[in-house]
Amino acid sequence: MGVVICKKCGDAWTFRQAFVSGLMLQRKKICPQCRARQYPTRKSRHRSSMLSFAAFLVFLIIVETFQMRLAYSLVFAGFVLLVTAVVNPLVIQLSNEEESHW
Ligand SMILES: [Zn+2]
Repeated sequence: MGVVICKKCGDAWTFRQAFVSGLMLQRKKICPQCRARQYPTRKSRHRSSMLSFAAFLVFLIIVETFQMRLAYSLVFAGFVLLVTAVVNPLVIQLSNEEESHW
């Protein structure tokens, strides 16, 4: 875990830049400093999918445990998504090359 570092120029991205790039679904990311194309490593993509899966499980367990009403569950789902989006930049590691999928 740590800040997102561009493998080309070695610059650390600000949290906001990493956050915005985490929201973009395409795998290719552009370094805000040197405009180089960067790709999340296979390992970090794996970690971010584990993170989404864990968030989804926690969501299900809590909704089930507290028998949440639909409206509350939707608000809670938004909250879980937000937390996931905030934590996601912490697990991203970049590489200059695009790695094969698995
Ligand atoms: Zn860069």
